Amino acid sequence: MEMHSARQLQELPYYEAQGEECRLFEHAHTSRLPLLIKGPTGCGKTRLVEHMAARLGRPLITVSCHDDLSAADLVGRHLIQGGDTRWFDGPLTRAVREGAICYLDEVVEARKDTTVVLHPLADDRRMLAVERTGELLQAAPGFMLVISYNPGYQNLLKGLKPSTRQRFVALGLDYPAPAVERAIVAAESGCTDAVAAQLVSLAQALRRLTAQDLEETVSTRLLVMAARLHRAGLALLPACRAAIIDALTDEADTSAALHEVLRAVI
Ligand code: ADP
Repeated sequence: MEMHSARQLQELPYYEAQGEECRLFEHAHTSRLPLLIKGPTGCGKTRLVEHMAARLGRPLITVSCHDDLSAADLVGRHLIQGGDTRWFDGPLTRAVREGAICYLDEVVEARKDTTVVLHPLADDRRMLAVERTGELLQAAPGFMLVISYNPGYQNLLKGLKPSTRQRFVALGLDYPAPAVERAIVAAESGCTDAVAAQLVSLAQALRRLTAQDLEETVSTRLLVMAARLHRAGLALLPACRAAIIDALTDEADTSAALHEVLRAVI
């Protein structure tokens, strides 16, 4: 049974489970296993990590990876401060020392040299070599490495290397089932259940249409944004146009097709 104090529950970031992912996360943490969360943009990966970090009572250090992110950005570097050279821990080193959860969002974007520091942390050793200072750090007990990636981006060159992915327990998330997604949209925006139901029906129709054509389709995040615009006073149709259709495509033909679906559903 999961026990939480009232105070803990109050401060817990809201997360509506799709299935058994919270339990899996918790077991991975207890077993000191690193976790790979895969799934499309805006399906709840980051929120799950925020929720679980709070539930497990661990600090969370998040790094949004980009194509210029190097091992030194993660580990740390010497900087000149007032004429002196001082060492500054990077986010990964801080997490290793503090026993925090370190979440590397979109890890495939990062430079390849980052895998060299991630591998010894992601296996039984749980070690981080800080070359510049000569330290070899053993990760503190609560430390957990969590990485996410979006397999939908059809960029084969950028896929995770097998030697990297085999070190992680994998958790696949997708857009939630309709009932779950309706609950999320209503809770995150404060809209009525009826509006949440309309938005989720729209998402279902758009996802069927866009599955093959667009790199990204309508995410739970976009539905929440549309619902918030509507809640702020904008009619539902223009809210959906701004938050969903125009956010998804610049291409005239695709846009016209999506608008047709929009008018049919809303
Ligand atoms: P990702 O990290 O997969 O890109 P996020 O976790 O940032 O996506 O989710 C985007 C937004 O969608 C969140 O800010 C939240 O409003 C909403 N959301 C998506 N899934 C959930 C969920 N399961 N529970 C609560 N909110 C969710």
